[in-house]
Amino acid sequence: MPIYEYHCEKCDRDFEYLVLGNDNPDCPNCNSKKVSRLMSICGFVSKGNGGQTVKSAASSSCSGCAASSCAGCGH
Ligand SMILES: [Zn+2]
Repeated sequence: MPIYEYHCEKCDRDFEYLVLGNDNPDCPNCNSKKVSRLMSICGFVSKGNGGQTVKSAASSSCSGCAASSCAGCGH
């Protein structure tokens, strides 16, 4: 399942969202619909990292891609 990274234009925050179909997420921070989708490879990279589940961007430790366990994006 593809995990996409989104950017909220209202509160200027990035977050990840597991996309099912053509779903368009609300911002988890401010519930705005004004989000734009970014390309994210980190969701796929982290799958091979000990089977860890990618948590929400709120607990992100990666400033570059918003993945909580991103070891492969260079950030
Ligand atoms: Zn927002």
